[in-house]
Amino acid sequence: MQVTLLGTGDTTGTPTVGCSCETCTRARNPDSELREQAREQGATLTPAGVERTRFSVHIRNERTDESLLVDFSPDFRQQFLREDVPLPDAGIVTHIHFDHLDGLGNCYRLFDDLTVYAADETDPVTGQSVAETVAADYAYLDQLTVEPRTPFEQFRTCGLDVTLIPVDHPPLLCYGLVIEDPETGTKLSLTGDTSYDIPERSRERLAEPDLLLADGIVPAHLSEYHPIGGTHYTDDGIARTFGSKHMTREGALAVADELDATQVRLVHVAHYYPASEAFEQPLALDGEQYTL
Ligand SMILES: [Zn+2]
Ligand SMILES: [Zn+2]
Ligand SMILES: [Zn+2]
Repeated sequence: MQVTLLGTGDTTGTPTVGCSCETCTRARNPDSELREQAREQGATLTPAGVERTRFSVHIRNERTDESLLVDFSPDFRQQFLREDVPLPDAGIVTHIHFDHLDGLGNCYRLFDDLTVYAADETDPVTGQSVAETVAADYAYLDQLTVEPRTPFEQFRTCGLDVTLIPVDHPPLLCYGLVIEDPETGTKLSLTGDTSYDIPERSRERLAEPDLLLADGIVPAHLSEYHPIGGTHYTDDGIARTFGSKHMTREGALAVADELDATQVRLVHVAHYYPASEAFEQPLALDGEQYTL
């Protein structure tokens, strides 16, 4: 499978509209060092500079020539204009936050029909499952078929085996994913938007991926700026969760280690990373591609 990171930013993206912090400034006007590094990482340089648009991952099954899209970024149009990847044959929505769902309206006139998979568990906060919310929000899109799926129950789409994995993103239900190629046995794991508190059963299913895409929204040292601080501290006082919803860089790297990931890229990255850390490995940039 060929994995293309279409969107590696958090909900405001980098550069963030109206922000003149050092990180956004460097992203808008990348110096030659950053340009060179972006090229080496296989990132896409755009007129807007080095970007992290809102979250989305494109997975192409080269054997069947089918593509699966994980999450519908509000930047869907720009992402597909920018990257040389085909439109998806099917999609998955991990949860109902704006940055993962609100690009779905882009499907109008682009598709005759599109199947989107999402979890079937009722969220006590919304009184609906993710699948029900997606179907209700986009009821006007005749091209769309929403297929509810039960977490931990593997299903096949685009010739790939997909499993929704419950994670921890309060107050909403949210899911990571395991995507496996039944022919080659290669495995892609995504943590989804989550705190470090990923349930044990989920960790067991996410374990030993060839590539892990992990939520690493900010470095742990920024936790003091969150209204509720950090959580899930190590014995050395390092926060593995930023606030309650996302992992810190250190939390994401700890999970990668605990899951014994062959390779890890940190995604859902915020512009709050200081400019000196914002473009360092293993933070991902838009446009990176991996062949598993
Ligand atoms: Zn900024
Ligand atoms: Zn979210
Ligand atoms: Zn998000």
